[in-house]
Amino acid sequence: MASPARHQGSAQASAQLELPFAPLSMNPVVTSSALLDGQPVNYILHRSFGRRRISLSIDERGLRVGAPLRASLREIEAVLREHAHWVLRKLADWTEKRAPPRRWESGEIISYLGLPLKLQVTAGASTVRLADPLLYVHSPDAAPDAVSALVTHWLRGQALGYFQQRIEYFRMRITLEAVAVRLSNARSRWGSCHASGRISLNWRLIHMPRHLIDYVVVHELAHMREMNHSPHFWAVVGGVIPDYAARRREIRRESHRYLAD
Ligand SMILES: [Zn+2]
Repeated sequence: MASPARHQGSAQASAQLELPFAPLSMNPVVTSSALLDGQPVNYILHRSFGRRRISLSIDERGLRVGAPLRASLREIEAVLREHAHWVLRKLADWTEKRAPPRRWESGEIISYLGLPLKLQVTAGASTVRLADPLLYVHSPDAAPDAVSALVTHWLRGQALGYFQQRIEYFRMRITLEAVAVRLSNARSRWGSCHASGRISLNWRLIHMPRHLIDYVVVHELAHMREMNHSPHFWAVVGGVIPDYAARRREIRRESHRYLAD
């Protein structure tokens, strides 16, 4: 994100590390609004103890402001006004980029491993069959809810198999013992890892191109070696994926496209 925001590695010393879609804080949040260039703008304000300065970030969810516990609303609004032009332009960009709501019917395009699949919905016993580039969905009734449930179930099944395969491939390169994987449905992160030797991966990753899925897999596996985001951690990631920095930027730039459903 071209903003003052950073990847929040969740520096807390817990046994779990998360890879958020975009910077997030675990602290209580409040919504607020400000007038920028005469335009009312809603934002989510996160105050947190460790934060030293006011930061702004914008993504598909809108404007988020991070602030030290003691920052006054006046100070926060002064920062917003100072960056009003940037904020309004970024918000406009996101509005433009936001994917239209999914239509669960024939002709709808679903991204699968970064490639477009076209839904072909027909009547029949509930099954889903891939005949690239078509995804046949047989449903007793073509109700959007039923089609959505069938496709999601299919995608999750594919996701689990694919992730297990990639974990197995990279695990050996990072010299790790067996790693258990679980699918997550989190709205805020692509992956997380647990000290117990298990990683969770968001099933929606299956929408992404393979090189981005690999980045998330390796990121979480590398946490099994280094439970932090230290230079040692990035050395482990870079040892397997030398161009990880570019993939990391891409995933943050493109995340919003894979968040539908
Ligand atoms: Zn991480």
